[in-house]
Amino acid sequence: MTRLQDRVALVTGASSGIGNAIATTFGREGAKVVLADVRKEPKLEDERSVFDKLDELDATYTYVETDVTTPESVEKAVEAAVSEFGGLDILVNNAGIYYQYAVGETPLEEWDQIMDVNLRGLFLCCKAALPELERSEHAKIINLSSIYGLVGGKGSGAYCASKGAVSNLTRQMALDYAADEINVNALAPGIIKTAQNAEWRETDPELLADWQAATPWPRFGEPEDVANAALFLASDESDFVTGTVLSVDGGWTAR
Ligand code: NAD
Repeated sequence: MTRLQDRVALVTGASSGIGNAIATTFGREGAKVVLADVRKEPKLEDERSVFDKLDELDATYTYVETDVTTPESVEKAVEAAVSEFGGLDILVNNAGIYYQYAVGETPLEEWDQIMDVNLRGLFLCCKAALPELERSEHAKIINLSSIYGLVGGKGSGAYCASKGAVSNLTRQMALDYAADEINVNALAPGIIKTAQNAEWRETDPELLADWQAATPWPRFGEPEDVANAALFLASDESDFVTGTVLSVDGGWTAR
Protein backbone atom coordinates (compact mmCIF):
# COMPACT_ATOMS: atom_id res chain seq x y z
CA MET A 1 0.00 0.00 0.00
CA THR A 2 1.36 3.42 -0.90
CA ARG A 3 -0.74 6.07 0.80
CA LEU A 4 1.47 9.00 -0.24
CA GLN A 5 2.25 8.00 -3.82
CA ASP A 6 4.04 10.86 -5.64
CA ARG A 7 3.42 13.39 -2.85
CA VAL A 8 6.37 15.61 -2.04
CA ALA A 9 7.18 15.89 1.67
CA LEU A 10 9.69 18.10 3.44
CA VAL A 11 10.69 16.81 6.88
CA THR A 12 12.82 19.00 9.15
CA GLY A 13 15.10 17.29 11.65
CA ALA A 14 14.91 14.18 9.45
CA SER A 15 18.30 12.69 10.36
CA SER A 16 17.42 11.46 13.85
CA GLY A 17 14.68 10.10 16.04
CA ILE A 18 11.09 10.94 15.17
CA GLY A 19 12.03 12.83 11.98
CA ASN A 20 14.07 9.86 10.77
CA ALA A 21 11.07 7.55 11.33
CA ILE A 22 8.63 9.95 9.65
CA ALA A 23 10.87 10.40 6.58
CA THR A 24 11.32 6.62 6.31
CA THR A 25 7.59 5.92 6.66
CA PHE A 26 6.70 8.58 4.09
CA GLY A 27 9.35 7.20 1.68
CA ARG A 28 7.95 3.70 2.14
CA GLU A 29 4.47 5.03 1.29
CA GLY A 30 5.63 6.48 -2.03
CA ALA A 31 6.41 10.09 -1.10
CA LYS A 32 9.43 11.92 -2.47
CA VAL A 33 11.16 13.23 0.61
CA VAL A 34 13.30 16.31 1.25
CA LEU A 35 15.43 15.60 4.31
CA ALA A 36 16.15 18.95 5.94
CA ASP A 37 18.52 18.84 8.90
CA VAL A 38 21.63 20.59 10.20
CA ARG A 39 23.37 17.20 10.32
CA LYS A 40 23.41 14.02 8.26
CA GLU A 41 24.26 11.40 10.88
CA PRO A 42 21.70 10.20 13.41
CA LYS A 43 22.30 11.49 16.94
CA LEU A 44 22.27 8.05 18.59
CA GLU A 45 25.06 5.59 17.84
CA ASP A 46 22.72 2.61 17.50
CA GLU A 47 20.28 4.45 15.19
CA ARG A 48 20.18 3.53 11.51
CA SER A 49 20.85 6.27 9.00
CA VAL A 50 17.73 7.58 7.26
CA PHE A 51 19.68 7.48 3.98
CA ASP A 52 20.34 3.75 4.35
CA LYS A 53 16.74 3.04 5.24
CA LEU A 54 15.38 5.03 2.28
CA ASP A 55 17.91 3.39 -0.08
CA GLU A 56 16.79 -0.01 1.11
CA LEU A 57 13.18 0.94 0.32
CA ASP A 58 14.24 2.26 -3.08
CA ALA A 59 12.58 5.55 -2.09
CA THR A 60 13.17 8.92 -3.73
CA TYR A 61 14.78 11.55 -1.54
CA THR A 62 17.23 14.41 -1.36
CA TYR A 63 19.15 15.88 1.57
CA VAL A 64 19.43 19.64 2.01
CA GLU A 65 21.60 20.92 4.84
CA THR A 66 19.09 23.14 6.62
CA ASP A 67 19.06 25.24 9.74
CA VAL A 68 15.40 26.01 10.43
CA THR A 69 16.31 29.19 12.31
CA THR A 70 17.67 30.85 9.14
CA PRO A 71 15.22 32.10 6.49
CA GLU A 72 17.66 31.61 3.56
CA SER A 73 18.40 28.06 4.63
CA VAL A 74 14.72 27.16 4.90
CA GLU A 75 13.99 28.74 1.51
CA LYS A 76 16.74 26.59 -0.01
CA ALA A 77 15.04 23.44 1.29
CA VAL A 78 11.67 24.47 -0.18
CA GLU A 79 13.37 25.35 -3.47
CA ALA A 80 14.90 21.86 -3.57
CA ALA A 81 11.41 20.33 -3.26
CA VAL A 82 10.27 22.41 -6.23
CA SER A 83 13.35 22.04 -8.45
CA GLU A 84 13.92 18.32 -7.80
CA PHE A 85 10.38 17.03 -7.29
CA GLY A 86 8.11 19.65 -8.87
CA GLY A 87 6.38 21.15 -5.80
CA LEU A 88 5.52 20.54 -2.17
CA ASP A 89 2.50 18.81 -0.61
CA ILE A 90 3.48 17.98 2.97
CA LEU A 91 5.52 19.98 5.47
CA VAL A 92 6.54 18.25 8.70
CA ASN A 93 7.91 20.72 11.24
CA ASN A 94 9.76 18.22 13.37
CA ALA A 95 13.16 19.82 14.17
CA GLY A 96 13.26 20.58 17.87
CA ILE A 97 15.54 20.85 20.87
CA TYR A 98 15.07 20.42 24.61
CA TYR A 99 16.79 21.84 27.68
CA GLN A 100 15.68 21.19 31.21
CA TYR A 101 15.46 24.24 33.45
CA ALA A 102 12.88 25.95 35.65
CA VAL A 103 12.37 29.53 34.50
CA GLY A 104 14.51 31.03 37.29
CA GLU A 105 17.51 28.92 36.27
CA THR A 106 17.13 29.21 32.50
CA PRO A 107 20.11 30.89 30.83
CA LEU A 108 18.88 33.55 28.41
CA GLU A 109 20.87 31.97 25.60
CA GLU A 110 19.11 28.62 26.04
CA TRP A 111 15.68 30.26 26.27
CA ASP A 112 16.44 31.99 22.96
CA GLN A 113 17.77 28.80 21.34
CA ILE A 114 14.65 26.79 22.21
CA MET A 115 12.36 29.54 20.95
CA ASP A 116 14.48 29.93 17.81
CA VAL A 117 14.41 26.27 16.79
CA ASN A 118 11.05 25.09 18.17
CA LEU A 119 8.92 28.13 17.36
CA ARG A 120 10.66 30.64 15.08
CA GLY A 121 12.00 27.79 12.93
CA LEU A 122 8.52 26.33 12.54
CA PHE A 123 7.14 29.76 11.60
CA LEU A 124 9.90 30.27 9.02
CA CYS A 125 9.27 26.85 7.46
CA CYS A 126 5.51 27.48 7.24
CA LYS A 127 6.09 30.92 5.71
CA ALA A 128 8.50 29.58 3.09
CA ALA A 129 6.36 26.54 2.26
CA LEU A 130 2.89 28.14 2.13
CA PRO A 131 3.11 29.50 -1.45
CA GLU A 132 3.93 25.96 -2.66
CA LEU A 133 1.34 24.31 -0.39
CA GLU A 134 -1.31 26.68 -1.75
CA ARG A 135 -0.60 25.23 -5.22
CA SER A 136 -0.95 21.63 -3.99
CA GLU A 137 -4.22 19.69 -4.02
CA HIS A 138 -3.10 17.57 -1.06
CA ALA A 139 -1.55 20.15 1.25
CA LYS A 140 -0.76 19.16 4.83
CA ILE A 141 1.21 20.81 7.61
CA ILE A 142 2.16 18.61 10.55
CA ASN A 143 3.77 20.29 13.55
CA LEU A 144 5.60 18.47 16.31
CA SER A 145 4.24 19.72 19.59
CA SER A 146 4.53 17.63 22.76
CA ILE A 147 2.55 16.55 25.81
CA TYR A 148 4.44 19.56 27.26
CA GLY A 149 2.60 21.66 24.71
CA LEU A 150 -0.69 20.60 26.33
CA VAL A 151 0.13 20.71 30.05
CA GLY A 152 2.93 22.09 32.19
CA GLY A 153 6.01 19.94 32.77
CA LYS A 154 8.27 20.35 35.79
CA GLY A 155 11.61 22.03 35.09
CA SER A 156 10.94 22.65 31.40
CA GLY A 157 9.97 26.33 31.17
CA ALA A 158 11.25 27.30 27.74
CA TYR A 159 10.33 23.96 26.19
CA CYS A 160 6.75 24.12 27.53
CA ALA A 161 6.41 27.72 26.34
CA SER A 162 7.65 26.82 22.86
CA LYS A 163 5.46 23.72 22.51
CA GLY A 164 2.39 25.45 23.98
CA ALA A 165 2.86 28.06 21.28
CA VAL A 166 3.21 25.33 18.62
CA SER A 167 -0.11 23.78 19.72
CA ASN A 168 -1.98 27.05 19.57
CA LEU A 169 -0.30 28.24 16.37
CA THR A 170 -1.52 24.96 14.85
CA ARG A 171 -5.12 25.78 15.79
CA GLN A 172 -4.69 29.36 14.58
CA MET A 173 -3.22 28.36 11.21
CA ALA A 174 -5.95 25.77 10.69
CA LEU A 175 -8.46 28.64 10.67
CA ASP A 176 -6.50 30.81 8.25
CA TYR A 177 -5.83 28.04 5.72
CA ALA A 178 -9.01 25.90 5.86
CA ALA A 179 -10.51 27.78 2.92
CA ASP A 180 -7.39 26.87 0.89
CA GLU A 181 -7.84 23.22 1.97
CA ILE A 182 -4.50 23.09 3.74
CA ASN A 183 -4.81 20.83 6.78
CA VAL A 184 -2.79 22.04 9.76
CA ASN A 185 -2.43 19.60 12.64
CA ALA A 186 0.02 18.79 15.39
CA LEU A 187 1.26 15.69 17.14
CA ALA A 188 1.87 15.67 20.88
CA PRO A 189 4.19 12.78 21.69
CA GLY A 190 4.83 11.52 25.19
CA ILE A 191 8.20 9.97 26.00
CA ILE A 192 9.55 8.58 22.74
CA LYS A 193 12.88 6.76 22.78
CA THR A 194 15.21 9.18 21.00
CA ALA A 195 18.38 11.18 21.66
CA GLN A 196 16.23 13.86 23.30
CA ASN A 197 15.87 11.69 26.42
CA ALA A 198 18.54 8.99 25.94
CA GLU A 199 20.83 10.30 28.65
CA TRP A 200 18.38 10.28 31.54
CA ARG A 201 16.81 7.01 30.40
CA GLU A 202 20.30 5.51 30.90
CA THR A 203 21.36 7.34 34.03
CA ASP A 204 18.25 8.09 36.10
CA PRO A 205 16.33 4.87 36.92
CA GLU A 206 14.12 6.72 39.41
CA LEU A 207 12.92 9.24 36.85
CA LEU A 208 12.47 6.43 34.34
CA ALA A 209 10.29 4.52 36.83
CA ASP A 210 8.24 7.67 37.53
CA TRP A 211 7.59 8.13 33.82
CA GLN A 212 6.73 4.47 33.40
CA ALA A 213 4.26 4.65 36.30
CA ALA A 214 2.64 7.75 34.78
CA THR A 215 2.24 6.17 31.34
CA PRO A 216 -0.82 3.85 31.29
CA TRP A 217 0.34 1.92 28.21
CA PRO A 218 2.95 -0.57 29.43
CA ARG A 219 5.90 0.70 27.35
CA PHE A 220 7.47 3.92 26.13
CA GLY A 221 6.84 5.19 22.64
CA GLU A 222 9.00 4.40 19.63
CA PRO A 223 9.66 6.93 16.84
CA GLU A 224 7.54 4.70 14.57
CA ASP A 225 4.49 5.26 16.81
CA VAL A 226 4.69 8.97 16.00
CA ALA A 227 5.48 8.28 12.33
CA ASN A 228 2.30 6.20 11.98
CA ALA A 229 0.21 9.08 13.37
CA ALA A 230 2.05 11.49 11.02
CA LEU A 231 1.19 9.18 8.11
CA PHE A 232 -2.52 9.48 8.93
CA LEU A 233 -2.23 13.29 9.10
CA ALA A 234 -0.30 13.36 5.80
CA SER A 235 -2.74 11.10 3.95
CA ASP A 236 -6.11 11.81 2.30
CA GLU A 237 -7.74 9.93 5.18
CA SER A 238 -7.35 13.02 7.38
CA ASP A 239 -8.84 15.52 4.89
CA PHE A 240 -11.56 16.65 7.34
CA VAL A 241 -9.16 16.80 10.31
CA THR A 242 -7.67 20.22 10.93
CA GLY A 243 -6.59 22.27 13.94
CA THR A 244 -6.18 19.22 16.14
CA VAL A 245 -3.33 18.30 18.47
CA LEU A 246 -3.18 14.52 18.50
CA SER A 247 -1.55 12.93 21.56
CA VAL A 248 0.72 9.97 20.90
CA ASP A 249 1.54 9.30 24.52
CA GLY A 250 0.28 5.90 25.68
CA GLY A 251 -2.50 7.64 27.60
CA TRP A 252 -0.24 9.99 29.62
CA THR A 253 -2.53 13.00 29.10
CA ALA A 254 -5.69 10.90 29.63
CA ARG A 255 -5.02 10.54 33.36
P1 NAD B 1 16.19 14.23 18.17
O1 NAD B 1 17.09 15.07 19.01
O2 NAD B 1 16.36 12.75 18.16
O3 NAD B 1 16.22 14.76 16.66
C1 NAD B 1 16.05 16.10 16.35
C2 NAD B 1 16.62 16.37 14.96
O4 NAD B 1 16.43 17.76 14.69
C3 NAD B 1 18.13 16.09 14.88
O5 NAD B 1 18.46 15.33 13.73
C4 NAD B 1 18.74 17.48 14.81
O6 NAD B 1 19.95 17.55 14.07
C5 NAD B 1 17.62 18.28 14.13
N1 NAD B 1 17.74 19.71 14.39
C6 NAD B 1 18.00 20.33 15.57
N2 NAD B 1 18.09 21.65 15.40
C7 NAD B 1 17.87 21.89 14.07
C8 NAD B 1 17.85 23.05 13.28
N3 NAD B 1 18.10 24.26 13.80
N4 NAD B 1 17.57 22.93 11.95
C9 NAD B 1 17.34 21.72 11.40
N5 NAD B 1 17.38 20.57 12.11
C10 NAD B 1 17.64 20.65 13.43
O7 NAD B 1 14.73 14.65 18.67
P2 NAD B 1 13.34 13.85 18.61
O8 NAD B 1 13.11 13.27 19.95
O9 NAD B 1 13.27 13.00 17.41
O10 NAD B 1 12.34 15.07 18.49
C11 NAD B 1 11.69 15.44 17.28
C12 NAD B 1 10.56 16.40 17.62
O11 NAD B 1 9.61 15.76 18.48
C13 NAD B 1 11.02 17.65 18.38
O12 NAD B 1 10.29 18.77 17.96
C14 NAD B 1 10.71 17.29 19.82
O13 NAD B 1 10.57 18.43 20.64
C15 NAD B 1 9.41 16.53 19.65
N6 NAD B 1 9.11 15.65 20.79
C16 NAD B 1 9.93 14.64 21.15
C17 NAD B 1 9.60 13.84 22.23
C18 NAD B 1 10.45 12.70 22.69
O14 NAD B 1 10.16 12.11 23.74
N7 NAD B 1 11.49 12.32 21.97
C19 NAD B 1 8.43 14.09 22.94
C20 NAD B 1 7.61 15.14 22.55
C21 NAD B 1 7.95 15.92 21.46
